[in-house]
Amino acid sequence: MDLDVDMSELEGRAFTCDDKCGLCCLCQAEVLPHELPFFKKNHPDRIVIKNEPHRHVALALKNGEGPCSFLSSGRRCQIYAKRPHYCRQFPFHMYVGTRVQVELDLSCRGVWYGGTEDALVVGGQMVSEHAEVLRRTLQQSLAVHREFEDNCAEAGIARAPEALRRSLDQHLPDLVDPLYLAHVLDLSAEEEEMEALPATSSLPAYDRRELEASARETGLESLSAEDVFSAPVYCDPSGTWNVLLARDDRVEWTVMDDDGKISPVRSIDPRKVELLQPEGPGREVFVDYLRTLNRRDSMLGYAYYLVDDYGYEDPVANTYYGAMAAAALDLLWRSSLIAHMRGGKLDREGMIEGIIAYDMDRLDAPTIGAFI
Ligand code: SF4
Ligand code: SF4
Repeated sequence: MDLDVDMSELEGRAFTCDDKCGLCCLCQAEVLPHELPFFKKNHPDRIVIKNEPHRHVALALKNGEGPCSFLSSGRRCQIYAKRPHYCRQFPFHMYVGTRVQVELDLSCRGVWYGGTEDALVVGGQMVSEHAEVLRRTLQQSLAVHREFEDNCAEAGIARAPEALRRSLDQHLPDLVDPLYLAHVLDLSAEEEEMEALPATSSLPAYDRRELEASARETGLESLSAEDVFSAPVYCDPSGTWNVLLARDDRVEWTVMDDDGKISPVRSIDPRKVELLQPEGPGREVFVDYLRTLNRRDSMLGYAYYLVDDYGYEDPVANTYYGAMAAAALDLLWRSSLIAHMRGGKLDREGMIEGIIAYDMDRLDAPTIGAFI
């Protein structure tokens, strides 16, 4: 079986790891079976068994929480030459849906400010190294997608992915406007199938305060977590790990140090966070990011997961447009929160910081495909 691989997200991109960042060392690295003998022999006390999302071996974290136990203060990896595949792969993610698609993690600071490593070259090497497992996963994923398509056809809710993407692409600049997003969200929740995204000339009147409240609610939901160690982390330009946890209708802003120690900064009243709109070159950054999301198969896989979860009652088009509008609103609110914390606005830099704070969370969205 020949591999159908799409690496268009990597075109024209280069990256260099930012030494002071270390963000990816906060994600607990999985140890693959062929990597296990090295750790069992040399660092038996640094591996743990995890049962979620599947049973696997992972590197131990400092004190069981926080950064990887191999991260020294100063953010150097103590086993750099022997670090697991999981760490080498960052900031790339290989997604398997109806083909293999390589994504670039836009929460990685190293992909934004120029770099020396050609993303296309590195992505291509990664795919070749993992061709066998990708091939096996693709076979399973194709079977899941065939069943999904049959179910959609039977329920009369199907829509070709390319038609969905084309329609959305034409309206990407409109998604900058929260009023337009609210209208798309309303239409997507109706029973009637959306033929395409609406024209901007037909926007009903919206109460701006209600809209801000609903954006806030979505934003707070995306920042809620069991505890501070599972909450989203924003690594700022100075390399500080800012942890943002929604609790009791507030955003608790803390920072984590290299040893995983948490110190409070302040508690933010989310009603004081003004929902900003990208401005100047910030609009281009926002629209480009949504264009990337619209091309990601994992975004489509997320909408398909929702269709399946809702029992094939909602049209695929409504679910996809609704998911994209919700993502855009979530990103706007998250970016506004980061601008509020930094005292900035959503110009080019502010918008990039918003995406850095947001993109990694998309990996947690369930899909009917799989990340390798
Ligand atoms: S997130 Fe990117 S820049 Fe940061 S440590 Fe990882 S690879 Fe380097
Ligand atoms: S093994 Fe090294 S690169 Fe991997 S998470 Fe730990 S410190 Fe980071």
